[in-house]
Amino acid sequence: MTMSHQPPHEYVDAHCHVDLFREPARLVADAAKHQVHTIAVTNAPFVFPHTEAIARGNPFVHAALGLHPELVATHGQQLGRFVELLSSTRFVGEVGLDYSTHDVELRKRQRAVFESILQHCAGARERKVITVHSRRAASDVIAALGAKLPGTVILHWFTGTLRELEHALAAGVMFSVNSAMLSGQSGQRLVRAMPRDMVLTESDGPFVGPKTAPESPTSMEGTIASLASLWGVEREEAQRTVLANFKRAIR
Ligand SMILES: [Zn+2]
Repeated sequence: MTMSHQPPHEYVDAHCHVDLFREPARLVADAAKHQVHTIAVTNAPFVFPHTEAIARGNPFVHAALGLHPELVATHGQQLGRFVELLSSTRFVGEVGLDYSTHDVELRKRQRAVFESILQHCAGARERKVITVHSRRAASDVIAALGAKLPGTVILHWFTGTLRELEHALAAGVMFSVNSAMLSGQSGQRLVRAMPRDMVLTESDGPFVGPKTAPESPTSMEGTIASLASLWGVEREEAQRTVLANFKRAIR
C-alpha cells in the first residue's frame, strides 16, 4: 500500500467566525484535535488581536483580519486600524460587499473600503489569502478584484449567477462551499459548475445550522460527504481534493 492510498485525516474549514461562538478557545482546540485547517475570520479590526491570540501557536487555525461590509456603516472608520494590522497576518477576511442594503451611499462606502483593502493586500510583501463576502454584489466584487488578484481570493458562500461564476473563475478565484449551499438546488447548481480544483469547504459557523448546534470546523466531515455525493466520488477522494486545494491556496 502506498502513502496516497492512506485515508486522509485532515479537513478544511475555510470560513468560520470562531470569535462568535460561545467558547472560541475550545473551538480552536477542537479544530486542531480533529485536524481541521481553519480560517478564523473576524468582522472588524478591533476583534482581530483577540482571535489572533487564541489561534497563536495552533498549526491548524489561522486568524484572519476582517472588516465586514455590513459593518462599514458603524466600523468603516477602522480602516486605518485594518491597514496597521495587515502586515501581521497573511489571512484576510471577512471583507467584501453586501448589497442587501439599498442605500446607494452605503454601497459606495463599502466599495471604497473594499477597494482600499484589496489595494493594500496587493501591495503587501506576502501573498495574502482573502476570504470574500459577495451577497447580491457578485458582479461588483469581481469587478473590484480586477484582472490581477491581490493574492489568493476565496469567494465564500457564493450566491451569484452562473454567468457571474464564470467571470469569477476567469479572474482566478476559489470558492468555499457550506452545507446550506450543498442542500439547496441553486447552491448545488453553482457547486456543480465549479471546477473541483477551485473548491474548498467552510462552515460559516455560527451562521449556518441550528442555533443550538451551529456548523463548526468539526462539521466538515458531513460537508465533505455532501460534496462527495454531489461530485459522485468517494468521500476520501473529495477530502483529498479539498485538502490539496487548500494547501495550494495558502502556499
Ligand atoms: Zn461569514
